[in-house]
Amino acid sequence: MSGIRQFSLLFFCASFNSVVNAQQLVVEHIANAGVKISSGDRTVLIDALFGPHQRFNSLNEKAFSELIEQGAQVVMTSHYHSDHFAGKRARQYLRANEETMFIAPPQVLDYLSDLGNLPFLKGPQLTDFQSTKFSHKGVDITVLNFPHMSPEQTADVQNYAYIVKINGWKILHIGDGGINPTIIDGLNLADRNIDLALLHDLCPEQEDCVERIKQIGAKQVAFYHMTDDRTEPVGSWITENYPAARMLVTGQQPVLMSKE
Ligand SMILES: [Zn+2]
Repeated sequence: MSGIRQFSLLFFCASFNSVVNAQQLVVEHIANAGVKISSGDRTVLIDALFGPHQRFNSLNEKAFSELIEQGAQVVMTSHYHSDHFAGKRARQYLRANEETMFIAPPQVLDYLSDLGNLPFLKGPQLTDFQSTKFSHKGVDITVLNFPHMSPEQTADVQNYAYIVKINGWKILHIGDGGINPTIIDGLNLADRNIDLALLHDLCPEQEDCVERIKQIGAKQVAFYHMTDDRTEPVGSWITENYPAARMLVTGQQPVLMSKE
């Protein structure tokens, strides 16, 4: 009996070690543009506090409650559009996780004025190609003003991109930013040594998507903001144009990266 128990314990330890690699980067899809980025014992969320939504996938109540319980060191929102942010869910999350740092454009913080006494709410005002930095519980965040796509309809929407530095990894998430050469250059993305660039699925709709990915210069790229019916066309685009790219969409495995 004790022999069996010992064996099970050894087996458990062995499999646990092979699954949890302290160096590994794990990026899980939450829904739409929402991602959970983890490495070592650190976790951050971007664009995950939203829903329910009529057009785009979002977490159901139970899954959102689990996300609240799991917690994170830092949570970020790119902009206030309803497929990226919902005031009710953000309040729910932040009331339950008061030690979590929350970073978003001031327009997002306006929806959370009743949380004003929480210690770690950050809404830096950025324009042009400005950026700023925050550090919290071992995670470093660079916040970049990254104008929203199709600026003629959304010129007044503040959209921020984030570069997350977690356990030695650097991950870029651009929210609904317009993927164009002027912005990529203006924000010096090529000089920032990005390991993984997370981009929305309108990049593959652009003729110059591959050039823009190369201009960003990240080691790996993954697309988000996909409804389920986008899996096939974006998957075909990837196969034909940029086979190394990954998708963050319902039913796909997390994006994993390991140090060589
Ligand atoms: Zn948007």
